[in-house]
Amino acid sequence: MTSLEEQASSQWPLAQALQDRFVRYPHQGLKTDDEYNAVMAQLDFGAHFTDYMARASWDADRGWHGHRIEPYAPLSLDPAGAVLHYGQEVFEGLKAYRHADGSVWTFRPAYNAARLNESSQRLMIPDFPIPDFLASLVGLVSADRRWVPQDFGASLYLRPFIFASEAFLGVRGAQRFDYAVVASPSGPYFSDGLKPINVWVERDHHRAGPGGMGNVKTGGNYAASFFAKAHAQARGFDEVLFLDAATNSRLDELGAMNVFVVMADGRVRTPALSGTILPGSTRSAILQMLDDDGVDVFEESLALDEVWEGIKDGTVTEMFACGTAASVVPIGSLTVSSQRVELGSVEFSRWVFSALADIHYGRAADRFGWMYKVADAV
Ligand SMILES: *Cc1c(COP(=O)(O)O)cnc(C)c1O
Repeated sequence: MTSLEEQASSQWPLAQALQDRFVRYPHQGLKTDDEYNAVMAQLDFGAHFTDYMARASWDADRGWHGHRIEPYAPLSLDPAGAVLHYGQEVFEGLKAYRHADGSVWTFRPAYNAARLNESSQRLMIPDFPIPDFLASLVGLVSADRRWVPQDFGASLYLRPFIFASEAFLGVRGAQRFDYAVVASPSGPYFSDGLKPINVWVERDHHRAGPGGMGNVKTGGNYAASFFAKAHAQARGFDEVLFLDAATNSRLDELGAMNVFVVMADGRVRTPALSGTILPGSTRSAILQMLDDDGVDVFEESLALDEVWEGIKDGTVTEMFACGTAASVVPIGSLTVSSQRVELGSVEFSRWVFSALADIHYGRAADRFGWMYKVADAV
């Protein structure tokens, strides 16, 4: 178990006890029924936001203060605000799912809270206490509960983030920060079931290197990946498989998702958390679930050559990527320069996808205690 998993499985206060930590401000201009209906009738990803957002601020004198749920609105930031110049920022992503009885649940939110703190430590940002993180989700989802979709596969995507807001251009960690959570109703990532993606294996660019920030969730890693992704997409690929920067020969991550390899002999393998790989909550859950089901799972270094030959000779039957946004995405093909190999099967991906979704939506027993209720049924 990583320290993230240990922190995630500790006993944290339940929603009732956290309800009032973030003070709810009055809202003078809730979205109209027409605006609401237009958004909810056509759910996409990350394009529309709710009525409220959570906020808190940090300075050296007061520490974290001003915890509140306030109307969603543009932020005001000094043009010299450090995040705009030096990228001192960390974020998280998780989803709130509506269960059949109307109650609303998040998946392992303390894992995300603990990971936010690991990211913050790497970027010289003060820790945000885990109970406060949970309280921000409870407060926001309670205020915004009408935005949690009903449909299986749909959810309210939650985006907590912290950024350096001190107005100072000197080169050092900032002395002022802001925490916020925004929420976006989102549809099923794939409306037509699980569609295998075509992947470009990237050998000219890396998203992270040894000693860098690949193992934490910060905007800079994303910015570093867009160039390769745009070029791959321009050539007709869906995503990019990044290799490790040290040897350019081992599987790292697939875009902003973790990657898994399924073997014909039943073993399931994923790159070990070497320091350049983000410890995904989905990755960790899949490993735990498969292990519990008696599948042999391995976290290890995975050479591209070996995987490539395995696909060709049939010892590798399936590959998939995983993360909160898309859950599980089967890989249909890999291309290295002009060579392409195809993966025919999506059976295993489909099984993992369903097992996770059943837990998310309360259709299966929560056998690992992963679900955390943020709002009661009304
Ligand atoms: C967020 C993220 C993931 C997936 O993490 P989950 O916790 O499963 O959503 C994987 N890789 C990168 C680079 C990420 O930023």
